Amino acid sequence: MKKAASARRAAPAKKTASGKEPASTTKGASAKKAAKGAAVKKAPAAKKVAVAPKKATARIKGTAPARTVVHPPGDESRTALVRRARRINRELAEVFPYAHPELDFENPFQLVVATVLSAQTTDLRVNQTTPSLFAKYPTPEDLSAANPEEVEEILRPCGFFRAKTKSVIGLSKALVEDFGGEVPGRLEDLVKLPGVGRKTAFVVLGNAFGRPGITVDTHFQRLVRRWRWTGESDPDKIEAAVGALFPKSDWTDLSHHVIWHGRRICHARKPACGACPIAPLCPAYGEGETDPEKAKKLLKYEKGGFPGQRLKPPQAYLDAGGTPAPPLGAG
Ligand code: SF4
Repeated sequence: MKKAASARRAAPAKKTASGKEPASTTKGASAKKAAKGAAVKKAPAAKKVAVAPKKATARIKGTAPARTVVHPPGDESRTALVRRARRINRELAEVFPYAHPELDFENPFQLVVATVLSAQTTDLRVNQTTPSLFAKYPTPEDLSAANPEEVEEILRPCGFFRAKTKSVIGLSKALVEDFGGEVPGRLEDLVKLPGVGRKTAFVVLGNAFGRPGITVDTHFQRLVRRWRWTGESDPDKIEAAVGALFPKSDWTDLSHHVIWHGRRICHARKPACGACPIAPLCPAYGEGETDPEKAKKLLKYEKGGFPGQRLKPPQAYLDAGGTPAPPLGAG
């Protein structure tokens, strides 16, 4: 593949400044003489191409290692794209078999509120805030009748606390008035709730109702573009394009895998390419640090990444340079 890649990038045959074929291909001595004196266009120097390691770190048992497909997808066929996308998802499922929504919740109401609160802040911050919110206002009825100033005080650490207070009280009122105090299990109903867009609705549908949905958050958008799964930038179009590459039953887990990978390895500014388990399948390999030792230092694991250390980190995750997250609340 290395050879093929460099062959694709090889300089074109030299042409004279006039754009004609070089002297060696023209007939006659005068033509040769004229060509000799003519300025010759220099071919641009071949660009150095980062080549991903040939072996995926997290290989699926019983299957062949991922083939190196660095820089292929300019002319990648639809079938090849579907295969590569599904291979990436399988590799990530091996690395993050426990991937799940990182917001704590016990019922659909708590999940929809927590998801609304998670805008522009971390899930960890939301998880630190929601216990006191739900202790004081456990149901939509309680939160719809709350004093906004008291809710604002609780939500202050989440940022944009006035707007978020308005949204969670508003959506609680809508749940009480329009849905009998229950969170609806249909997309078209969920998106009518204040502060709830398609992204939040799919999180709720996928994780509280078991209905397949793709969550197009900032990580998802960045990664699917790096992987050239789609060139779209509008979240709804990304959702449709990526949804067409996978069976519906994969959508919810796919969203978790991609988002976990984006949070821990394929960061916006410094992706840890040298410690990335799907490097052989990624056309953007080399966009981040490729030195394995330096790349390992870029891996990020949020506190509670393994909730309460109930789950043992899988070997593939450790092989990829991962370290067990400290227990919840530590450090
Ligand atoms: S970390 Fe690098 S190699 Fe891995 S998915 Fe991101 S850009 Fe690709």
